[in-house]
Amino acid sequence: MAGDPTYLIAGASLAGAKTAQTLREEDFQGRIVLIGQESEPPYERPPLSKGYLLGTTSRGEIYVHPQPWYGEHQIDLRLGTAVTGIDPARHEVSLSDGSRIGYAKLLLATGSSPRRLQLPGADLDGVLYLRRVDDSDRLKAALQSASRVAIIGAGWIGLETAAAARAAGAEVTVLERAPLPLLRVLGREAAEVFADLHREHGVDLACGVQVAEILGRGGQAVGVRLADGSRIDADAVIAGIGITPNVELALAAGLEVDNGVRVDEHLRTSDADIYAAGDVANAFHPLLGRHIRVEHWANALYQPQVAARAMLGQDVAYDRLPYFFTDQYDLGMEYSGYVEPGGYDEVIFRGDVEARQFITFWLRGGRVLAGMNVNIWDVNDAIQNLVRAGGRVDAGALGDVKTPLGSLAGAAP
Ligand code: NAP
Repeated sequence: MAGDPTYLIAGASLAGAKTAQTLREEDFQGRIVLIGQESEPPYERPPLSKGYLLGTTSRGEIYVHPQPWYGEHQIDLRLGTAVTGIDPARHEVSLSDGSRIGYAKLLLATGSSPRRLQLPGADLDGVLYLRRVDDSDRLKAALQSASRVAIIGAGWIGLETAAAARAAGAEVTVLERAPLPLLRVLGREAAEVFADLHREHGVDLACGVQVAEILGRGGQAVGVRLADGSRIDADAVIAGIGITPNVELALAAGLEVDNGVRVDEHLRTSDADIYAAGDVANAFHPLLGRHIRVEHWANALYQPQVAARAMLGQDVAYDRLPYFFTDQYDLGMEYSGYVEPGGYDEVIFRGDVEARQFITFWLRGGRVLAGMNVNIWDVNDAIQNLVRAGGRVDAGALGDVKTPLGSLAGAAP
């Protein structure tokens, strides 16, 4: 392959590995270099707060590919190496080992980093975050020995970790500053379902609270003090307070950055030879008609199929609807679509909310923006069809389990 172009991927993540895979599937004969800061080969993150944390998914199951796959596909996988700079004019990156590599095309799959607590005591031992597999290992060990756990943030990590901590037998307090868990994503009506779920499973869920300090003894976290002076004792404190996209390389290289690396529908940045995918990419979505940065697994799984083809010069656009799922206790759900906070004017529940077997639809002007199926399966395609069709739907029929979802899709615009 000497003399063939080099396609370089910064970030040996799910998005990075899938880009390399698609390039080979598309018969790209050039050199592929996949560079990752961690020493682990690319792995999937959903199990880190679910099965892997619970101990039901093994280490071997989290990897995107078995390690030999990279060599078998002539992918130069360089682990434990960071990309430290990009020189777009010279088409070159610099690496933490002091070397430089030229590229014809570059993909940024640099992901995101957990937001850190900015509080007295935040640096104490026993204050844990969850992003990488070694974080999940630390968390699992802490859950096995802790009898009381305080979780700051009732987002996806906070709630999935709360379920794992309850399964491990710990007493759990979840501290959220918003009035309800997941409020920004789900809105009040559906967020209440998750609040009830956790309270019914014995979680002390405190919303609308302000954490003032992590309390310590001998350098170890022993609890949390709230702004109202109350104190929660805990053997471990877990923070899941959101993430920030890793845009430093893009910024330093002069690429357009705005809530992530700004890319068009082909996932191309403001530099024609540099692309971005996954958590870090704020991509124009043709169906939604706006830029959107999606911090979920499905995005890291599917955007690479478009990014890789676009890097090869194909005219492809990424227009999949945002999709995510969760498993908490005996509740499993899938969500498709996109609603900005406060962006809906009607919520319809279809099914039995008390029994937690239902679908929620968010609508605006009679059109379905998003849907979430809870403990009901094989309906997500129909939900996506409804969102994609974009027509007005009859709210009564939508909420009536006797009306097949398929009969509603494509209703008159
Ligand atoms: P997240 O889902 O964005 O939730 C963070 C939560 O913490 C929000 O409710 C936020 O409230 C709250 N918060 C922020 N600062 C706080 C503070 N100082 N005190 C108390 N609460 C605070 O983020 P995450 O749970 O940390 O997850 C990290 C990333 O992993 C996200 O991108 C998430 O989508 C992804 N993830 C996804 C899944 C899934 O799809 N099932 C599972 C795990 C992780 P405000 O909204 O008011 O800021």
